[in-house]
Amino acid sequence: MSSLFPALADGSGERVALRFGERSLTYGGLAGAAGAVAARIRGAGRVAVWATPELETAVAVTGALLAGVAAVPLNPKSGAKELAHIVNDSAPDLILAAPGAELPSTLGDLTRLDVDASGTGTAPEEQASDTAPALIVYTSGTTGPPKGAVIPRRALATTLDALADAWQWTAEDVLVHGLPLFHVHGLVLGILGPLRRGGSVRHLGRFSTEGVARELNGGATMLFGVPTMYHRIAETLPGDPELAKALAGARLLVSGSAALPVHDHERIAAATGRRVIERYGMTETLMNTSVRADGEARAGTVGVPLPGVELRLVEEDGSEVADYDGETVGEIQVRGPNLFTEYLNRPDATAAAFTADGWFRTGDMAVREPDGYVRIVGRKATDLIKSGGYKIGAGEIENALLEHPGVREAAVTGEPDADLGERIVAWIVPVDPQVPPTADELADHVAARLAPHKRPRVVRYLDALPRNDMGKIMKRALVADA
Ligand code: ATP
Ligand code: MG
Repeated sequence: MSSLFPALADGSGERVALRFGERSLTYGGLAGAAGAVAARIRGAGRVAVWATPELETAVAVTGALLAGVAAVPLNPKSGAKELAHIVNDSAPDLILAAPGAELPSTLGDLTRLDVDASGTGTAPEEQASDTAPALIVYTSGTTGPPKGAVIPRRALATTLDALADAWQWTAEDVLVHGLPLFHVHGLVLGILGPLRRGGSVRHLGRFSTEGVARELNGGATMLFGVPTMYHRIAETLPGDPELAKALAGARLLVSGSAALPVHDHERIAAATGRRVIERYGMTETLMNTSVRADGEARAGTVGVPLPGVELRLVEEDGSEVADYDGETVGEIQVRGPNLFTEYLNRPDATAAAFTADGWFRTGDMAVREPDGYVRIVGRKATDLIKSGGYKIGAGEIENALLEHPGVREAAVTGEPDADLGERIVAWIVPVDPQVPPTADELADHVAARLAPHKRPRVVRYLDALPRNDMGKIMKRALVADA
């Protein structure tokens, strides 16, 4: 297949490709360093990459892609049990790491290869076929143990080119990046995306609103973040004119990996005049939908299917939702060249994930608005509450609760109820734990905004919601604790 990274070979050598803190690499430098990695790992079956937020991680993955060797990014913050699961499951021949990185003893049996960011190899011509596995990325483990999604080269190229179309993403763009590098968002969109375009990445190492303000005010054009980052931004904006100026001047602010609360979206819009655009994707499918750069960004929606992606909503009885009425809920199913090939070593899970005619069941529930915009109402497994004969999405109740001035964080689940089938439970982190809003007050607050049957029947107070490394709320931990 054709090259994933034309800019490594096309004479854009002097342009800066990657900058992590004080260290940076031009396209010429990256071709040398990744070329050296490729030469050392050629012939390996699979390599693990110790995915710290450093230059070497980006070099290692680029080198593996050039060599046509599948890379398995590992989360350095994973617990020993999860790491052991992933390494046993994916059976890498080698582990690539930054020279200073300390590896846990769990990985002691693997042959280590230190990545030299100043290596001077030559980027080889990419020869792997478009269906060859490029990455094996483990899902976030939000709903069960992480599964290894085998992602072919074709899916990477397709999804990144579809995003370039939707976002008018070019070599001129400079991305501000503060995400980890072991998931699709941070690695595929945040690193491989700019490299495929011939653009530039500035990684903050660790997300901070100061870093975002500094980079966007210093020439960067786009920001990718997860909702917890935009929440921090929304909280910081009122007292931070530099940050407001930075966001107002950005070409594109993009959120994904979980739903962006409407309250945060609106606060950012009010303070900066800019609307964050949302895109929706998964490890298994890469990107499915997005608000387009030239489209209307509406809070609570994830836009339209990307070029090449077929999307349908399917009801429980298997029939397709034909309506674009903003009301009829169905499971999102997708088909297209952006899809993974299989879950590694999990033929059962792979078979269960696809319909007979090749549609992937995302497990996410949504409605379609009259103009085709998709609005996600939540996950089938944890966010759809069947109460009193209604099917109620947790998301809109969470959005309503977050508008209450006494609520800092909110999550909604269902639990068995003799009368209703399930009752709505609100998990609340109050702004002031000394005087939390009462259950009655919150029920009235929700009933005043949504239909009365959507009010929470039970309210439980917490110091913090359980979240994973991407800031996603782990609802199965909430329910297990109940
Ligand atoms: P696991 O599959 O292991 O339970 P996970 O589904 O969280 O974990 P990912 O593949 O990282 O693992 O996340 C994909 C999911 O994230 C989607 O299925 C969807 O539920 C959610 N998601 C991603 N983007 C958005 C968005 N913009 N709005 C709402 N939900 C989103
Ligand atoms: Mg999932």
